[in-house]
Amino acid sequence: MTCRIAGLFGLLLVCVSPARADWMQRTEAIMGTRCYVELWADDPVKGNDAIDAVMAELRRIDALMSHYKPESQLSQINARAYQEPVQVDKELFDLIKLSTYYSQITAGAFDITYASVGYLYDYRRHIHPSEAQIKSALPAVNWHNLLLDEAHHTVRFEHAGMRIDLGGIGKGYAVDHGIDLLKARGFKHAVVTAGGDSRIIGDHMGRPWLVAIRHPDDPKKVVTRIPLSDSAMSTSGDYERYFDESGVRYHHIIDPHTGHSASKVRSATVLAPTATQTDGMSKTAFVLGPEKALEIINRLPEYDAVFVCPDGRVLYSNGLRPPAERPPGAPPAATAASPVPP
Ligand code: ADP
Ligand code: MG
Repeated sequence: MTCRIAGLFGLLLVCVSPARADWMQRTEAIMGTRCYVELWADDPVKGNDAIDAVMAELRRIDALMSHYKPESQLSQINARAYQEPVQVDKELFDLIKLSTYYSQITAGAFDITYASVGYLYDYRRHIHPSEAQIKSALPAVNWHNLLLDEAHHTVRFEHAGMRIDLGGIGKGYAVDHGIDLLKARGFKHAVVTAGGDSRIIGDHMGRPWLVAIRHPDDPKKVVTRIPLSDSAMSTSGDYERYFDESGVRYHHIIDPHTGHSASKVRSATVLAPTATQTDGMSKTAFVLGPEKALEIINRLPEYDAVFVCPDGRVLYSNGLRPPAERPPGAPPAATAASPVPP
């Protein structure tokens, strides 16, 4: 009898016990890259719905801004903006305008008109433009030739052959939207990643998330780890989209001044409160070099950065304590979960 009661009680417990709080994660291919959401959910149904909503938001932004999709508003700009002003949604207009702000603060290193030359590269098919092609396309690279009409949300190109591409800021922007959505639903611990751009809400089991910066030539080797909570981080690397030919690495970050791949660092990691900020800034060191980029970052109180140089040096902005300053023999930093799974 006692046994039967205990059995019944146990069954009841199973039936009425609330769904267990747990970490939930999902990866999807969106925006031509790997998008990842991880969150701490008190209720798995709500967690799953929230992940669905984030992924849907990333897809919505991709449909608006993709240059691969001929029907996207961005593609409409590229097709017609030299002939006539092209009206777009305020959201796209605002991001294009914001891009010009990053052009200003990075001395032109970030420039969405890079695409006027950038479209001549095809990393998958190992195609790069000739010097003659670069010379004729380069005059179209100049963000000053973007005419933005705030009142009508129109974009016009002042130079023939111009194209724009938001691949250097759109993922960070999308990540921020994903995070806003999770915050609005009350999530207190989460990470959203799109390609090299991530943003974190809260911490991971009471400790900061520990984010690894990989070695440019070996994805299994870690150059350094950075503890992060309530922060965004973008890493740009010359190992993401590239091919090597005759000892030259052709990769996806283009120097707007030369039309060639920008190679003054091997990787650049930028930290700031939002992923739009970190994405907009993570190309700077490739184009301007680590010293000039550090000058810019160190002047901006919200930003920090870690650069891996071609000679293997690792440079840190003033706000980060360089591991080199740890006393000799100090134990390695403790590790915790990384927001980016292996
Ligand atoms: P991810 O695509 O993983 O976020 P990055 O943040 O490093 O990678 O951005 C690289 C992308 O930025 C390129 O694929 C291209 O779309 C765009 N881009 C390349 N050069 C520039 C530049 N000088 N200014 C702005 N955007 C650029
Ligand atoms: Mg990025």
